[in-house]
Amino acid sequence: MVAGIKALTEAGLLGPLPADGIPPADVVAAFADRLREAIQRDELRLTYQPQADAHTGRLTGFEALVRWRLPDGTVLPPDVFVPMAEAGEGIHILGEWVLRRACETAAAWLRHGVTDVPVAVNLSSLQLENEGLARTVLGVLTETGLPAANLKLELTETALFQGGDQARQILLELRGAGVRLVLDDFGTGHSSLALLRKVPVEALKIDKHFVQAMVEDRDAAAIVHAVVALAHALGLQVIAEGVETAEQLLFLRAYRCDRIQGFHFSRPLAAEDVPGFIARNAQFGNAGPPPGG
Ligand code: C2E
Ligand code: CA
Ligand code: CA
Repeated sequence: MVAGIKALTEAGLLGPLPADGIPPADVVAAFADRLREAIQRDELRLTYQPQADAHTGRLTGFEALVRWRLPDGTVLPPDVFVPMAEAGEGIHILGEWVLRRACETAAAWLRHGVTDVPVAVNLSSLQLENEGLARTVLGVLTETGLPAANLKLELTETALFQGGDQARQILLELRGAGVRLVLDDFGTGHSSLALLRKVPVEALKIDKHFVQAMVEDRDAAAIVHAVVALAHALGLQVIAEGVETAEQLLFLRAYRCDRIQGFHFSRPLAAEDVPGFIARNAQFGNAGPPPGG
C-alpha cells in the first residue's frame, strides 16, 4: 500500500496526507470519485494475458488485468491503485467496471466464433462483502450475453478465509449459475485444505513466486510438485502463473501441471491484439512443442 500511495501522490491522484501517511476517510472517498471520473474519461484499460495447456500449448483462456492510463500517458499498474481502491467504495466501482468490460470483450470473441476461450476476472476479497455481488455478476452476464461458463472468477485465499458464510453463499450461488471459480495465488495465504473442500473452485493457481523459485530451490520444487498432486487428488486443475522460461515449463510438465500463464507463452495483450493472437494460436499453438515432439 505504501509504495502505491507514493506513486498515486506523485501522479496527483491523492491529496495531502497526514504525517502518519494513512489516508483519512475523506481522501479515500475522493479517490473513489477520481476512479469514477477515470471510468467516464475512458482512462481504464484491460489487458488480457493468454493461458495455455501446459502439454499441448493450446490456448485455454485469458486473464483480464486492469491498467490506468493517465492523460499524460503514464500507465499505472494495478498494484499501485487497487489497494487504495480497496480502502473504500472504490473497489466496488472498479470491480464492476472490470467485470462488465471483460464480459463485453469475451462476448465479442464469442460472436467471432471463438467458443472455448473463457475470460478470468480478479475479484477482491472486499467485493465479496457486497451481498448483492451474485446479482451484479449474473446481471452483467445477461446484459453482455456472455454464457456463465465463459466467465471465471479468480479469488484469493483471504477472500475464502475471511469472507465467512456470506462469501460462501455468494460463491455457491455463482457456481450454481455456471460461473467458474479459481483459487488465485495458492500457497501465499492460509492454504487451508478444509476450506478447499467447502468452496466450489475448479482450479488452483500456483503463485508465481513458487514457479520462479522452483528451478533453483528444491523446496519450492517439492511444494509445486506436491500442490499439483494434492489438487489432482481433490479433482482440481492446476494453473502455474509467472512462467518465464522453457526450463520452468519442463518442470511443470514433469509435475503434470495442467495449464500455464506467463511471459514464456505471452505477455498481457491489449484488447485489440487478442483476435490476432487467437487466430495465430489456433494454427500453431505457442507454448513450444509438446514433450517429445
Ligand atoms: P495476479 O492476479 O497474480 O496477476 C498476475 C500478475 O503477474 C500480473 O501483474 C501479470 O502481468 C504478472 N505476470 C504475468 N506473467 C508474468 C511472468 O511471466 N513474470 C512476471 N514476473 N510477472 C508476470 P499485474 O497485471 O501487474 O497485476 C498485479 C496484481 O493486481 C494481480 O496479480 C491481481 O492481484 C491485481 N489485479 C489485476 N487486475 C485486477 C482487477 O481487475 N481487479 C482486482 N481486484 N485486482 C486486480
Ligand atoms: Ca489473478
Ligand atoms: Ca499471483
